[in-house]
Amino acid sequence: MRALAPPQFTFTDVLNTCVGSISCQTLTQNINAINLQLTTAVQDFDTKSATADLFQIPPFIGNNDAVVTGQVTKAELKGLYTLHMVPTKKPARQYYDQIMMQAPLRICPFCGFGQVTTLDHYLPKAKFPLLSIFPKNLVPSCADCNKGKSAGIATSKNEQCLHPYFDQGHFINDQWLFAEVIHTTPATIRYFVQAPNYWSTSDQARVNSHFDDFKLAKRFSIQAGDEISNLRGELDIDFQINQQTGVEQALLKKHAGASLQHTNSWKTAMYQALAASNWYCSGGFK
Ligand SMILES: [Zn+2]
Repeated sequence: MRALAPPQFTFTDVLNTCVGSISCQTLTQNINAINLQLTTAVQDFDTKSATADLFQIPPFIGNNDAVVTGQVTKAELKGLYTLHMVPTKKPARQYYDQIMMQAPLRICPFCGFGQVTTLDHYLPKAKFPLLSIFPKNLVPSCADCNKGKSAGIATSKNEQCLHPYFDQGHFINDQWLFAEVIHTTPATIRYFVQAPNYWSTSDQARVNSHFDDFKLAKRFSIQAGDEISNLRGELDIDFQINQQTGVEQALLKKHAGASLQHTNSWKTAMYQALAASNWYCSGGFK
């Protein structure tokens, strides 16, 4: 997981720009009439995100034609996003693009390796239509993370995956992602979560939820498999020069480089595990 700075523009900026591009006068009036409800929903999100209690926001249970509030349906609220913020020719697209660009090198903050191609609604717009264009509910994401998480919603604090705008500090700086080397040919890597025991139980549970929701065990293992096949030639040379010690030193250097960048990345955990594996360094890499 990677931390991101939250968007700097306001909900009102986005709302006014989206509403400004609606051609139907009745819909414009209907949306303007629910301004208070929209503002209240956004304030509630702000309050609850500060204490990681977003799961307490009740979902809207109703189909697309159902009225959410005032005279505005769920489809119309979702349309603010899909018809007025996503299309490239709409003025509110500038906000969509700005949020996408918040992710350094366009790398997905949820998995830390996928390429950002979309915005993820942290609280899905199908269940939280009032938040469909709220900037802090929109996170740049890769397609796999966006798809992986869309199915369910958290019903307790423990089930909430990490939010890159709010879950920073110890979630980023303390190590919770680890790996072990499986003695196969070629070697494979198994990833697991081990949060520090001085963390609160809900924070410990949340990193596990994050890891499971985005299917990171499998996806990280595939990334590692590719890296391991690339390593072989290089480690052969290190082994010829200084046997097991040469391999260990090369891997420790790679671990130091990766860990300086990100404490919890598939690469950091992988190099840590490889460097510590007697089996791998003494010839398992071949
Ligand atoms: Zn991702």
